[in-house]
Amino acid sequence: MARSYNFSPGPAALPEAVLRQVQQDMLEWGETGASVVEISHRGPEFLEVARQAEADLRTLLAIPDDYAVLFPAGGATTQQALIALNFASPGQRVDYVVTGHWGRTALKQLATVDVNIAASSEDDGFRTIPARASWRLSKDAAYVHVTSNETIHGVEFRPAWGPVPDTGDVPLFADFSSNIASEPIDISRYGLIYAGAQKNLGPVGIAVVIVRRDLLERAGHPRADIFNYASQLRAESMLNTPPTWNWYVLGLTVRWMIEQGGTAEFDRRSAEKSALLYEAIDGSGGFYRNDVDPAVRSRMNVPFFLPDPALDAPFLDGAREAGLIGLKGHRVLGGMRASIYNAMPVEGVRALVGYMREFQARHG
Ligand SMILES: *Cc1c(COP(=O)(O)O)cnc(C)c1O
Repeated sequence: MARSYNFSPGPAALPEAVLRQVQQDMLEWGETGASVVEISHRGPEFLEVARQAEADLRTLLAIPDDYAVLFPAGGATTQQALIALNFASPGQRVDYVVTGHWGRTALKQLATVDVNIAASSEDDGFRTIPARASWRLSKDAAYVHVTSNETIHGVEFRPAWGPVPDTGDVPLFADFSSNIASEPIDISRYGLIYAGAQKNLGPVGIAVVIVRRDLLERAGHPRADIFNYASQLRAESMLNTPPTWNWYVLGLTVRWMIEQGGTAEFDRRSAEKSALLYEAIDGSGGFYRNDVDPAVRSRMNVPFFLPDPALDAPFLDGAREAGLIGLKGHRVLGGMRASIYNAMPVEGVRALVGYMREFQARHG
């Protein structure tokens, strides 16, 4: 059985080289006489894995020294709750810019704080990002939260929209779950960046939080120690047993990205892959459709629609036969979605575009 090109939004495709390494290490890892999933997180072998993963992530993303890196268990949604608990005192104002499903999900995690929706594109079906000049920011907010890439709606902050939003003295917090490491990021523009690993960084079950150290020092203290980012940092993300397997595979994936040429190379590949796909959609004479404002079209997640939903099932069946999987759109939007993260080679996108042309010739 051959591996298909996997366009799944997350858990998403991992680099084949990483999976082969993982397969080798599953039974016996190095000199330990055991699997990498069977050894103590406090032992020297795993501590080296954790140290190397952080060092490599710092290299890959050019993380400045005045930023701490946490590797918490769980996903991005958990961090959406924890950022409010850690950085806003009860009742304090926080500002949210909502540009899609995940921004809306973030709002549901904020029971203890006073939320101001500074801007939202919900009224236009999340096809745009409101201009920075229209954001109604609060002077006294603990932070401003944005979703850098909306994985379901296919909307991403891009240079064509504008520079990284300036929020003055209020730190900018950003959900980078689905576009981290797809291009160089100027981390210093952000107070905090978080990402669940399962889109672009590795397997599900672990997240990455990159946070300016002075914000952490000033942070409030959630009553539960396990939710406290500052305590987690002191314990090197090991207040309790961390997801060692996920951390290990994340480390391999980050190393693979460095070896491939780093974020500059993935920037180039993302531009190439997304252009191929959008050109195929826009050049289909209206057979395929993507409704997102071209200035903010995502380079990672490309939702598209067929002229008739009755064609969805035959499209997906034919795709599977052609070795293209994971293309079904999210139930919130319907239609199709191709997720083309760093592990997706350009050949996979070429195969998809070829299949789309052939399907149109048969059904157009
Ligand atoms: C997938 C995703 C989430 C949710 O991640 P979980 O790990 O399932 O909690 C949040 N934000 C964005 C942008 C995502 O892509």
